Amino acid sequence: MSKDVTVCFSYDFDAMSVWIANFRTESPNALSRGEFGQVGAQRILDLLADYDIKSTWFVPGHTIEAFPRECQRLVAEGHEVGHHGYCHENPARLEIEKEQAILERGIALIKDLTSRAPWWGYRSPAGSFSPNTLRLLLDHGFLYDSSMLGNDFTPYYGRDGIKASIDAPYDFGKPVDLVEMPFSWSLDDFPIFEYSSSRRGINQGLADPARVYDIWVGDFEYLYTKMG
Ligand SMILES: [Zn+2]
Repeated sequence: MSKDVTVCFSYDFDAMSVWIANFRTESPNALSRGEFGQVGAQRILDLLADYDIKSTWFVPGHTIEAFPRECQRLVAEGHEVGHHGYCHENPARLEIEKEQAILERGIALIKDLTSRAPWWGYRSPAGSFSPNTLRLLLDHGFLYDSSMLGNDFTPYYGRDGIKASIDAPYDFGKPVDLVEMPFSWSLDDFPIFEYSSSRRGINQGLADPARVYDIWVGDFEYLYTKMG
């Protein structure tokens, strides 16, 4: 018996921003890897169009400014644009004033791009929250976040005030009015495919696409056969 299963395709259109902010490079060679992002983005958009699939793109403001035509295409073709920082900044490293300014800069660029109210989705660059991120998202009217990993196939509500300590019971905090659409590193193609080296270490990447396909299909098969 077949059943309907809803899945979400989401893409982080980081382009140069991740190399500038996270890999801290000014090398034109390294930056050109980010420039390739617009090549990949066009191919993904072509593929999505072939299958008439609508998806979500988390786009840093920096990418909107660098590749306006490509970003306009994804809006014109009905894809959702979510917030992903201005230049892929890690919120956990920001003071609240700076984090708020970056959030508002990204919102303004998404509003200019989409010519309508954004859907108010957010994915943290680097997958990290500061102690202030959740509250800032709520204050700015965001409806959902996609930065946590507390489930795989089932959305849940974000929680404020989580406390972790080695000498006290875990405090789950209190649910807030922000839906969490969790992600998983095993479904992210960057660590699997992208070779990179930095002072923090080497990411081997360069995985056999067939192996990645197996991982992703295995996840889907579990969802399809065991859930719902
Ligand atoms: Zn990203």
